[in-house]
Amino acid sequence: RPMAEDVDMIFRSPWPDIEIPERSVSEFAFEQTAQRAGAVAFIDGPSGRMLTHGQVLEMARRMASALLRRGMRKGDVFAIFSPNLPEYVVAFHGVAMAGGVVTTASPLCTAETLAEQLGDSRARYLLTIPAFLGVALEAAKASGVEEVFVFGESEGATPFAALLANEAGPIRVDIDPARDLAALPYSSGTTGRAKGVMLTHRNMVAMMSQLESLSGAPSEDISLAVLPFFHCYGLLAFVSMTVRRGHACVTMPRFDFEQFLQLIERHRITSLMVVPPIVLALAKHPLVTKYDLSSVTFINSGAAPLGDALQMEAGQRMGVEVRQGYGMSECTLAATSRKRDNDPAKPGAVGRLLPNMEARVLDVATGVDLGPNERGELLVRGPTVMRGYLGNVQATDAAVDADGWLHTGDVVVIDDDGEFFIVDRLKELIKVNAHQVAPALLESLLLTHPAVADAAVIGIANEETGEAPKAFVVKRGDISEAEVMAHVAGHVEPYARLRAVEFVDAIPKSPAGKILRRELRQRP
Ligand code: AMP
Repeated sequence: RPMAEDVDMIFRSPWPDIEIPERSVSEFAFEQTAQRAGAVAFIDGPSGRMLTHGQVLEMARRMASALLRRGMRKGDVFAIFSPNLPEYVVAFHGVAMAGGVVTTASPLCTAETLAEQLGDSRARYLLTIPAFLGVALEAAKASGVEEVFVFGESEGATPFAALLANEAGPIRVDIDPARDLAALPYSSGTTGRAKGVMLTHRNMVAMMSQLESLSGAPSEDISLAVLPFFHCYGLLAFVSMTVRRGHACVTMPRFDFEQFLQLIERHRITSLMVVPPIVLALAKHPLVTKYDLSSVTFINSGAAPLGDALQMEAGQRMGVEVRQGYGMSECTLAATSRKRDNDPAKPGAVGRLLPNMEARVLDVATGVDLGPNERGELLVRGPTVMRGYLGNVQATDAAVDADGWLHTGDVVVIDDDGEFFIVDRLKELIKVNAHQVAPALLESLLLTHPAVADAAVIGIANEETGEAPKAFVVKRGDISEAEVMAHVAGHVEPYARLRAVEFVDAIPKSPAGKILRRELRQRP
């Protein structure tokens, strides 16, 4: 078949290409910090504790310098297992400046999941909070972690403050932005279990440059970081961009809708980066009318599907347009978005292709390139596409082809205006409250039960969480639905628990033994 290049079936960004500086992520993030040194950067929502931009930089430099003195080598992996806190930002940049790689773990991780990530990433260091120290130490013991740090103080770990005690010395690290990794978030991608997504300094600088190119003139933005920093959305939007733009950001360690509203009112928040379940609450929750939310001028939703009706309803209630962006960890954060100013949202659309990005749409059955208004799998290419999955050439080759196209596993329609609509998902991934749930993980857990002969897990629609995991189970002994659910619940994060179980005679599979999830989804 003809190559997309030959017949020019490639979709391009409506905006001109931008230059991507040859810098490390922290050099780029702190480039203008000197001019904003005294300005508030991060405020801890519950306590009001705050750090200025100058303090974030100074603390990150001290940390980098201390890590180097302690023998950290370039490429060493440093895991952060913590809720959102101002010091999380310091830790990320401290590690990155020292040439280390930050692997970010969900605060909801079980010890099992965390140990798997620590082991797979060969993390040498782990940073956590006192409340998570039990889980952290258990996971650290099960993997090869050498030293555990803790914010505050707790027995059994080195206080984070020890890394900040001394003045920063010279930080001599030679970073090659195009090759060296800065971040290693975990994602299951299109299939299988969670894998380390290798994001280089250049990936992150490219993403930040793209976002900056759309964000218009500098403003006195104050955002509310309810999205977790461990996910690309939080890692880029706040840990990176708040620093780069010299903005202010109020951090929330845990999601609590009333506290979210209180903080918007108290800090006169202007900018909200959210996920669909929060849009749902903004549209419907009775508490919304009790607070003054009039400071909000910008709302963006991403990370999971949001219907146009809900998008409009929330926008009307808030008096501010709700916009959408789309992307995945494997392309650092976003592939589509829109300009901050004078670029009104099209209902249901996730925006247009970012600068320096290209896209193709392939017919799902034939693999043939499609044009505008045709439905097919989205491929994207550009400087934000990951270097690959850590230690997994096979999964990398399946995700990013030889020409550099990332196969997203999402089904899209691109209209005549270049607006993207995400209309379906081919891949197994389930998004519960915008958290990734990998069916492959739940299936392997189900198969460890002696009364389970075979199992398959799919996502079903759920009003509150977007999607929820449902298991189809073939029994070989006596087991009830409740027992199946309890077996899984004992091993996974609360959001990943099964919400439904159906007993079946057989799991539909292809001749090659692949579960035919589509068939399961189409069952009455
Ligand atoms: P993650 O790597 O956790 O960000 O997950 C990426 C996946 O989330 C994408 O491949 C989509 O399936 C889904 N996703 C992200 N943003 C959107 C969106 N705006 N609309 C629909 N699905 C989305």
